[in-house]
Amino acid sequence: MSTPENVSTKPSNFLRQIIESDLASGALAGRRFSGVPGDARQLADAPPDPARIRTRFPPEPNGFLHIGHAKSICLNFGLAADYGGVCHLRLDDTNPEKEDERYVEAIRDAVRWLGFDWVSLGVNHEYFASDSFDFMWRAACALIEHGLAYVDEQSAEDMRRNRGTLTAAGVDSPWRDRPAQESLRRFEEMRSGLHAEGSMVLRARIDMASPNLNLRDPALYRIRFARHHRTGDRWCVYPMYTFAHPIEDALERITHSICTLEFEDQRPFYDWLLQHLAELGLLSPPLPRQYEFARLNLCSVVTSKRKLAQLVEQGHVDGWDDPRLPTIAGLRRRGYTPGAIRLFAERIGVSKSDAWIDYAVLEGALRDDLEPVAARAMAVLDPIPLLLTNWDEVIGAGRLEACSAPVHPHDPERGQRAFQLGPRVWIERGDFALQPPKGFFRLFPGGRVRLKYGYVIECTGATCHADGSVAEVQARLLPDTRSGTPGAAAVKVKGVITWVAAVDAVAAEVRLYDRLFLPDQPEAGGGDWLEGLNPHSRRVVQAWVEPSLRHAPAGTSFQFERHGYFVAERAEQAGGLVFHRTTGLRDGRGG
Ligand code: ATP
Ligand code: MG
Repeated sequence: MSTPENVSTKPSNFLRQIIESDLASGALAGRRFSGVPGDARQLADAPPDPARIRTRFPPEPNGFLHIGHAKSICLNFGLAADYGGVCHLRLDDTNPEKEDERYVEAIRDAVRWLGFDWVSLGVNHEYFASDSFDFMWRAACALIEHGLAYVDEQSAEDMRRNRGTLTAAGVDSPWRDRPAQESLRRFEEMRSGLHAEGSMVLRARIDMASPNLNLRDPALYRIRFARHHRTGDRWCVYPMYTFAHPIEDALERITHSICTLEFEDQRPFYDWLLQHLAELGLLSPPLPRQYEFARLNLCSVVTSKRKLAQLVEQGHVDGWDDPRLPTIAGLRRRGYTPGAIRLFAERIGVSKSDAWIDYAVLEGALRDDLEPVAARAMAVLDPIPLLLTNWDEVIGAGRLEACSAPVHPHDPERGQRAFQLGPRVWIERGDFALQPPKGFFRLFPGGRVRLKYGYVIECTGATCHADGSVAEVQARLLPDTRSGTPGAAAVKVKGVITWVAAVDAVAAEVRLYDRLFLPDQPEAGGGDWLEGLNPHSRRVVQAWVEPSLRHAPAGTSFQFERHGYFVAERAEQAGGLVFHRTTGLRDGRGG
């Protein structure tokens, strides 16, 4: 941990201002922390908290994390790092039906991959809401005893109707004023499994006429006969997220509880609950404070675990790590780097107003991250053969020319890549035109181009298949024009094309991706969001790539010259070389 100052050099935002002012005013002084989440009793003789602030990233383990979560991860871990604090990884596991251990593992993996760590000063700050179920139960009982909660036996329908609307006050439940002892007994019966799911709930007793609907006696506990991935069958009552979350924050000694704007209306309940539990002596001050920021909305994808799960379960994509998905696992497989995602998070910043971010911003961050480091390579994605008809006269029958190119153009120390030029070469279909449109500077009969890092060639003709598609292009090589040799530049050409020689080309499958959804905002309009799926979001081509890529390690990114950024994946079953296109070289749809 670096020596923290109250002021950081990063661009400021409203959260930084709040933290800086809290640190300056001493509002956070005197906090204690025992090394594990603790209630007032456990904290009484705990040492001072070594962390200057505490934040948390609190996912529910019901799916894989996505780019929106990445924003929250970078924000929470980033603020903690910048101000001498600690960020906890909190698994908010209060919905047993939907949660699973495999998601917990995927969440850990994603956060670590992004470059963050919840172990600080030797303490592992990974916590589960379910570890505090006992305390939550006690807290609920204390609220009941003090007339601040009651067991409501209205039907779900009555409860909904009696909640009122934005313009009409709610109606008190007939059970609202029942004696505390009766509620306590019922609550105990709920826990013992004596009552059916949905037959009764525990509710806070606040104000059925509050203009804030969240304060109209919100539910705190419900009955669920579901096996929990950590607590098994120990409980058949589970706390509501809105009850559990503030309590977890307080037990973990979180100072700044940062969440997305939809929780703004929950803040009064957050404060109501924690203040009462502190007054009852269960929690100790200073209490955590909740702050809201605008969630990330990224164009042409969906970022909701529920919708992502639907795409996976219905087979619209190949799995949670399908490279077309905005999941962290998918972005990673697509070739996104942790650095690119952190740069993206920094560029979009945090604010309190909702906005849509163009996918191009994410792609731009990737290019800026990869450009200085990605090794270069030549690849032909839509190959047609080119025959150099005068090879034997100019170079010699059976001979090859050894060529080379820098691994990285701005980093000579990384050395050269070697490949051959021979009489048969693969070129891009799009680099040849039988009848060139105006301003076409690549290959056409009579036209000249340079084979990059090789010779200038002049096209002499082409043969075509019956359907008119090109079968082979013929050209002759111009002697003494080889790149890097004296006088090579004497012959001027307007076009340079990339190529791979047939003699040492390596076959590779290349997967080209386009946006997963056609509309910018797939969920807008109220229709079926699945209808916006792009039927052509993935195209697989058989390409030829230069020999330096033969042993490309899985997960390594390359810039294919003139094409963009690609990442290697070893296809286990096929045993062949596979590349995913991460993004093109410039902005544009279909990166
Ligand atoms: P989803 O609807 O995708 O399940 P969620 O908010 O329910 O999202 P959680 O697992 O509860 O998912 O979220 C963990 C944290 O990530 C929360 O603090 C939440 O505010 C934050 N988060 C989730 N989605 C976004 C987003 N699009 N932008 C910023 N933060 C997000
Ligand atoms: Mg959620």
